[in-house]
Amino acid sequence: MTLDTPEGYRGIVTTPPGCRLYLDSAASTPVRTEAIEAMLPFLREGSANPSALHAGGRRAREGLERAREQVAAVLGAQPEEVVFTSGGTESINAALKGVALAQRDAGAGAHLVTTEVEHHAVLHSMHYLERFGFEAEYVPVDGEGRADPEEIAAAVRPDTALVSTMYANNEVGTIEPIALIAEAVRERARALDRRIPLHTDAVQAASSLPLDVDALGVDVLSLSGHKFGAPKGTGVLYLRRDVPFLEQISGGGQERQRRSGTENVAGAVALATALSLAQAERESFARTTSALRDRLLAGLLAACPDARLNGPHPGPLDVRLPHNLHLCFPGVEGEAVVRALDERGVECSAGAACTSTTWEPSHVLLAMAVPLELAIGSVRLTLSPEVTEEQVDYVVRELPAIVRRLREEGGSLLPSTPAGATGGTLSAAEPLARS
Ligand code: PLP
Repeated sequence: MTLDTPEGYRGIVTTPPGCRLYLDSAASTPVRTEAIEAMLPFLREGSANPSALHAGGRRAREGLERAREQVAAVLGAQPEEVVFTSGGTESINAALKGVALAQRDAGAGAHLVTTEVEHHAVLHSMHYLERFGFEAEYVPVDGEGRADPEEIAAAVRPDTALVSTMYANNEVGTIEPIALIAEAVRERARALDRRIPLHTDAVQAASSLPLDVDALGVDVLSLSGHKFGAPKGTGVLYLRRDVPFLEQISGGGQERQRRSGTENVAGAVALATALSLAQAERESFARTTSALRDRLLAGLLAACPDARLNGPHPGPLDVRLPHNLHLCFPGVEGEAVVRALDERGVECSAGAACTSTTWEPSHVLLAMAVPLELAIGSVRLTLSPEVTEEQVDYVVRELPAIVRRLREEGGSLLPSTPAGATGGTLSAAEPLARS
C-alpha cells in the first residue's frame, strides 16, 4: 500500500511538505484548490490597494466586499458585521480586549466569564485583561470537557462585561452547547436588566458545525482560515452591530475603524471561498470523517484495550467533532508515540509535552481531571475526508506496535511528579504552542 496522497484528492492541492499521511487537521489544513484559484487574480491584476481611487483599487475593493458578503451569508449576518483579520488568535484578542475595554468604558463593569478549557488565545487574553484591572472567572467543565450552561449563567454578575465560551475544543473535540449557553446567559442578563455580549471561539467548528450567529445566539465570533482550507494568516471576527468595541489595531481606519491596516484582499477572497465550500460540505465532511474516526477508534481499542478515549464518546454529531480522536495510552509518552508515528509516515499531535525536568500536561486534560500519568500518554489524531480506510488500517496496525515497543523499552514517565498525581509541575515558560 502507499501512504502517498491518493489520486483525486478532492479540493485539496497537496498535503503539507514531506507529509505522507496527515492526521493533524485540527492543527492546520492544506489550502483548497478553489481558494487558490479564487485568490490568484488578486495577487496579480487585482493587487492594488483597495483604498485607492483608481480602477485597480476599485477592483480590489469589489473583491474584498464580495468576500465579506460571502462570509456574512454563511454567518447569517450583515456584511458590515464582518471584520477580516490575520487569523484566530487576532480575532480572539480583538474580541476579548476590544469588547471588554469598550464595555468598561461604557460603565458596564470589568468582570469576565469564560471556561477552563479555552484555547490559549482566550486564556492569555483574559490574563492580559486581568493585569489591567479586569476580574476573570474560569468556569470548570465536566470529565468530558463540557461546560454547563447553568454554571456559566450563574457566574454572570451585574458587572459582567463579556462571556466567552468556545464552540468546539481543539484538543479533545468536545462540542460545547453554545446555543444553550447563549440562552442561559441571555436569561440571566434579562434578570439583571443588562445586555451581556457572548463571544465564541468557533475556530475548530467551521468544517463540521453550523455557524449561523442568530441560531447560535452569539454576538461575537472568531474564525481562522487555515482550519478550513484557506491560507494561514487569514481570519474573521464577527461583531454584532450593537456590541461596543474598541479597536485594537489603530491606523488608517480600515474595516470600518475596527481593524486598521491595508486589507489582505487575496486572503479574504480565499477565506470566503473556502468557508462557503466547507459549510456547504459540512454534513458530508461529518459523515465521512466520523465513519473513519469510528473505524480508527474501534481498531485501536481492540488492539490496545487499556487505551482511554478523552472527550465525549462518539454518538450524536453534536457532542464531539466528527474528525477528532484523542486517546491516552497508559505507560507511554505521547511525544514518543508521535515521533515514532512520524518515522512511519503518519503526522499527528501529542497532548502533553516534556520540558527538561517536568511534564506539561494540557490544561484541557487537567480541567477534565485526567490523571497526569494518563495525560502524558495522550495523542490527538484528526482526520480529513481524503483519508482512506486503508490508511486508517495502517495506523491501526502501526500505532499499537509502537505502544508495545515503547512499553517494553520502559523507563520512568514522571520525572519530577509522584505517580498518581493529577497535575504536572508547571514550568514558568510554556514550551508547547497548542493548536
Ligand atoms: N482557537 C482554537 C480553538 C484553535 O484551535 C486555534 C488554533 O489552533 C486558535 C484559536 C488560534 O487560531 P490561529 O492559529 O489562526 O491563530
